[in-house]
Amino acid sequence: MMEDTISAIATAPGEGGIGIIRLSGEKAVSIAYKIFRPHSAKSLQEYGNRVAVYGKVYDEHGHIIDEAICIVMNAPNSYTCEDVVEIQCHGGSVVMREILSLTYRMGARPAEPGEFTKRAFLNGRLDLSQAQAVMDIINAKTKASLDMAINHLSGYFSNKIREFRHDILAIIAHLEASIDFPEDDIEDLDFEDTREKVKLLQDKIQKMLASAHMGIILRDGLKTAIIGRPNAGKSSIMNLLLGQERAIVTDVPGTTRDSIEEYVNIGGIPLRLIDTAGIRATDDIVEKIGVDKAYSYAGEAELVLAVFDTNEELSAEDEEIIRLMDKCPGNIIVILNKIDLSGDKNTELLKERLKGCTAAKIRGIVPMSAKNGEGQEGLEELLKEIVYNGRTNIGESQAVCDARHEEILRRTVNLLEEALNTIDMGMSEDFIVIDLRSAWEKLGEITGETFDDDIVNQIFSNFCIGK
Ligand code: GDP
Repeated sequence: MMEDTISAIATAPGEGGIGIIRLSGEKAVSIAYKIFRPHSAKSLQEYGNRVAVYGKVYDEHGHIIDEAICIVMNAPNSYTCEDVVEIQCHGGSVVMREILSLTYRMGARPAEPGEFTKRAFLNGRLDLSQAQAVMDIINAKTKASLDMAINHLSGYFSNKIREFRHDILAIIAHLEASIDFPEDDIEDLDFEDTREKVKLLQDKIQKMLASAHMGIILRDGLKTAIIGRPNAGKSSIMNLLLGQERAIVTDVPGTTRDSIEEYVNIGGIPLRLIDTAGIRATDDIVEKIGVDKAYSYAGEAELVLAVFDTNEELSAEDEEIIRLMDKCPGNIIVILNKIDLSGDKNTELLKERLKGCTAAKIRGIVPMSAKNGEGQEGLEELLKEIVYNGRTNIGESQAVCDARHEEILRRTVNLLEEALNTIDMGMSEDFIVIDLRSAWEKLGEITGETFDDDIVNQIFSNFCIGK
C-alpha cells in the first residue's frame, strides 16, 4: 500500500442526486471510522467489509454534515488494491467539498488526476493498457467506442501483446540455447526456421497495426469539417446529424460565424464536427476570421463534407470550395443538398466539374436533404466504408486505439525487420538476440511491463481527478 491516503470527489463536477467521495490508502478506513456514524446502534467496524451502511457524516466538532451511505472495501479487494472507502452523500458541490475537506483534515491528501487508477496499475491490478481503457470507457463517444474500451479493459488487447512477447521470448530462448550449448548441436540451429518465426510474428503485428486507423477513430472521433458557401445548408446538415438544434440556422448569408465543435454518432462512428463559416470573399473582419478558419480546418480535417446547394447555379464561391477541396489532405464526401426542392440546377455540371479535381480523395457524392433527412443513410454507409475499410467484422477487441500504442507497434515491426536483416546477413545468434530483445522490451511499454516513469505519469495526468 502506498504511504499516503488519497481522497477526491469521484463523481462529475456540478450537482447531482448523489455524490461520491472516495478514499484510498492506509488511513482510509480509520478516517471513515472517525467521520461516519451508522444510523443503527452498531459501529462501522462491526459492519465489516463491502457493506453499504446508512448513517451520517460528522465533522470534528460533532456537527452533522450530511446523511450518507458508507462502504468500506478492504485491501486487496478494491479498485486500487488498497483499503478504499466510498462515501455516497447528496450530490451538491458544497456538501461534497465539506466532506472532502474533512477527510483532508483527518489525514488524507488530495488525489492527483488519475491517481486511483495509477495505484491500481502500480499495485498490479490493471496493466497500463487496461488503465488507459478505463479512461476510454469514461470518454466513449459511441456504443462501438465503448465496446472497444470494455474489451481493452477486460485484457483482450493486453493478452495479445503478451502473446507476442511470449513468442519473441521463445525464439530468443531457442537462440540462446544454441549459444550456450553449441556442442550439443540442438538440431543445429535452423536460421531459416528462426527467420520464418520472426516473419510470422511481424505479420501478426502488422495485421494488428492495420486496425489502428479504425481504432483511433472510434476512440478519438474523426475530425470532420463541413465546408460550403453561405446558405448551402452546412448548419442544417450539422443539426440534422446532431439530431438537435445547436448551430444557428438562418437565411442571412454568413451567420455561422464562430466555429462550433460537437461529436455526432453516425452508425457508431464518432465524428468530431467542426462547423465553419461560409466561405466567400468578404471585407467583414469577423466574417474573415471565420473564412480563414474554414481553410485551416479543412486543411486539418480527416474528413471534409463539402456541401453544395443543388438549387443554385454554381457560383464563384462554389468554385472557391472546389479549389479548397483540392488542398484538403483528408477524405472528402460531396453533399448535394436540398434535393427536396425540385429545381436541380447543377448536379450534372458539378459532377463534371469534380471529375477534374481531387478525384482520389472524393470518396462519394451523396444527394441529401438536410430538411427532411433524405440521403442520411447513404452518408452513413459511405462513412462506414471509409472507416472500416470494407471490413465488417473488425474485431474491435484487438484494435489499436491509441497513437502511443500504434507508434510502439510500428517500432516493434522495425526492430523485427532488423532481426530479419541480421539473419539475412549471416550474423551470429548473439546479434539476432539483441534485436529481438529490443523488440520484446519495446512491446512491454504497451502493457507497462517495461515502463518509463515519465510516460506513466504523463498517461495518468490526462485522467480526471477522482478516477
Ligand atoms: P449555411 O449558411 O451553409 O450554414 O446554411 P444553413 O444551414 O443556415 O441553411 C440556409 C438556408 O437553407 C436555411 O433557410 C435552411 O433552412 C435552408 N436549407 C438548408 N438545407 C435545406 C434542405 O435540404 N432543403 C431545403 N428546402 N432547405 C434547406
